[in-house]
Amino acid sequence: MWRITGQEDVVSLLSRGLEKKSLAHAFLISGPPHIGKMTLAVDIAQAVNCLKIPPPCGKCQSCLKIQQGKHADVHVISLAAQNDEEEGKTRTEISIDDIRQIQHAVSLPPFEGKHKAFIIDDAESMSIEAANCLLKTLEEPVTQAVFMLLTTNASLIPETIVSRCQKISLKPIAASEIEKILIKDYDIDSQKAAVLSRLSHGCFGWALSAAQDEKILEDYFEKRSRVLEAMAASLQERFSYAGTLSTQFSKDRASVYGIMDVWLDIWRDLLLLKTGLPDSVNNIDIAGQLKQWAATIGLNAIRDSIQAIQEAKIQLALNANARLVLEVMMLDIPVMAGNTVKR
Ligand SMILES: [Zn+2]
Repeated sequence: MWRITGQEDVVSLLSRGLEKKSLAHAFLISGPPHIGKMTLAVDIAQAVNCLKIPPPCGKCQSCLKIQQGKHADVHVISLAAQNDEEEGKTRTEISIDDIRQIQHAVSLPPFEGKHKAFIIDDAESMSIEAANCLLKTLEEPVTQAVFMLLTTNASLIPETIVSRCQKISLKPIAASEIEKILIKDYDIDSQKAAVLSRLSHGCFGWALSAAQDEKILEDYFEKRSRVLEAMAASLQERFSYAGTLSTQFSKDRASVYGIMDVWLDIWRDLLLLKTGLPDSVNNIDIAGQLKQWAATIGLNAIRDSIQAIQEAKIQLALNANARLVLEVMMLDIPVMAGNTVKR
């Protein structure tokens, strides 16, 4: 059973490949965070090692071991995994040593399964040396191994590597579809399913994790509360908020990009409310507050604010001075009137 949800085209493509025994030996799986890239990669690792027909059954000894991360032939390389080992030190790249370990492992036959599977998460974080080393490995004919490169941004992967992979792009799923699956297959309360499906941005994995772990939603609401406060705060307070964010950016870029997405999301909702499309609003639980704000601000100001946030995201990615970028963004976004809703 494929565990990936809402990606029927991808599943039927892979099932056909398995049936005809013509599955690619390298995949580049791209898509936004929590869309299901790792779930799909583990599904593929199960499929090529499954003991039943049709694979992956999800129930045989091999499938179970892979799902539990205990299969000797399935290797996962990710920044998060390396960071844990280094006790608090944050690594920002996958090094040539990581890829050399793969190179060594691939030269040996599978230990307990039919195929070795190598999953490289955050593949865009490979150093140039690591990418070159991986390219050499991909160029050598290997019959009993499958490589899966996972990335949120396929354009950052060297073209030489991309050309050797089958590309799978996971697309966001409609909120209505996610809402339906949460209620029907996971027995989630309909009100909660409505909120989660909209906040998930089409990423089923996020919606399901948030349904099962209260902390995820609490963290999101906390992050969003700070954004809402900053929207109505004085410039001085906003600058101090920008300072905090820039310090955070130097330690954990992804978390700040996550906060920028919350800013973008709120302004997108204001745009939808301003243009009379309330049904598409993501933050439905605070729609009342957003509606009030939308009424006090012009369409052009909303458009400019969205542009300012997007520009700031680009500048941050280009390694511009983070504090300056964020301060400029705070200047470009109008200060909203009135108190903010607290959850
Ligand atoms: Zn199986």
